[in-house]
Amino acid sequence: MTTYPVDAFTAPKGTYDLTPPDSATFLAVREALAAPLRRSGYGYIETPGFEHVELFSRGVGESTDIVTKEMYTLTTKGGTELALRPEGTASVLRAALERNLHKAGNLPVKLWYSGSYYRYERPQAGRYRHFSQVGAEAIGAEDPALDAELIILAVDAYRSLGLRDFRLLLNSLGDKECRPAYREALQGFLRGLDLDEDTRRRIEINPLRVLDDKREAVRKELVSAPALRDHLCEACKAYHERVRQLLTAAGVVFEDDEKLVRGLDYYTRTTFEFIHDGLGSQSAVGGGGRYDGLSEMIGGPALPSVGWALGVDRTVLALRAEGVELELPAATDVYAVPLGEAARDVLFDLVTALRRAGVAADFAFGGKGLKNAMKSANRSGARFALVAGERDLAEGVVQLKDLASGHQTPVSLDAVVEELRARRG
Ligand code: AMP
Repeated sequence: MTTYPVDAFTAPKGTYDLTPPDSATFLAVREALAAPLRRSGYGYIETPGFEHVELFSRGVGESTDIVTKEMYTLTTKGGTELALRPEGTASVLRAALERNLHKAGNLPVKLWYSGSYYRYERPQAGRYRHFSQVGAEAIGAEDPALDAELIILAVDAYRSLGLRDFRLLLNSLGDKECRPAYREALQGFLRGLDLDEDTRRRIEINPLRVLDDKREAVRKELVSAPALRDHLCEACKAYHERVRQLLTAAGVVFEDDEKLVRGLDYYTRTTFEFIHDGLGSQSAVGGGGRYDGLSEMIGGPALPSVGWALGVDRTVLALRAEGVELELPAATDVYAVPLGEAARDVLFDLVTALRRAGVAADFAFGGKGLKNAMKSANRSGARFALVAGERDLAEGVVQLKDLASGHQTPVSLDAVVEELRARRG
């Protein structure tokens, strides 16, 4: 007999199961985050949950935590090295290139997606090893209005959920013209600081990411670091100014944050992050930016692009932190309670007919007694119960009970579907 370790039948560390009733909120959040994209010309894309490791090491960047520490990698029996996707952008761009979407003559290619992502991070509140994102990418156009569009759509999505305590941080990382000179200036400054070995190594590989260090002691040393803002070329400055103007015109409030570099290497020019102040240390509910060089990094043509990913798990936590209760439609409108065998068949047919007519209906399965069945009806959240026994059937009626008021009226069997459809309105 096989013996299993004690925790073999519990969810792995850093993951959690979504179950009713909370799962309904999660689903509604996911839909609300995607809704603004769906009415703004973004088409749905779905890519595999795993990709070749090189896509991420080349795309996301060899020096990033995501690639060096957090990727779940595996070698297939055939010897192929795969990684569970830690983020969405590289996969979506890979798919767009592979399917030649950029050659269909309609740039930008605007895509949205929703799914699971995996990072081997140290789990804590709001930080999981399996999490869910809704994302958007606009591929193949360099236009500040496109950056603004995506930011506005994210803001509208959060607002539609009733979130208020979120802030938008905005920055420009420059481009291949101006970033190299800044990189050098920053390296010069950082080399003069008293930093640990790991961080010193990072100065040489990706100095901008040192600015992202969250440790208080390091942050203090960084106060007088050269600012990228002072090194932006004219084109980047003008571009960034346009994005800021468009956001302001749309009533979007933002904070300029020159230390915002984000954890991925591919960003250029516009970067942004949405922070929620009720979440403690894992406060980023979403983020994104422009990635004009990524396509070439993964073997494609030059395709300037911009995108974002919003965390579904953390958006749910943010709603909870603000005490926002979403108004979710009841899962069940009508609950059928048969009294006796003959009534079971009639009510089961009726439930099927109701469902086909678009009324959410459920049934007291398992031959429960009246008392238990009525308890289930109440728990289901239904507004009405349909109760019928042999005498009702002999009269060609079912009893329609309003579960809130307790009021009960007989309704003719022929009329009940229409009656309930009308009342549901
Ligand atoms: P990133 O690509 O790291 O900026 O991630 C985009 C968004 O996904 C973040 O703002 C978070 O809301 C969410 N996210 C990223 N990593 C995690 C994680 N480990 N657990 C939960 N949510 C995450």
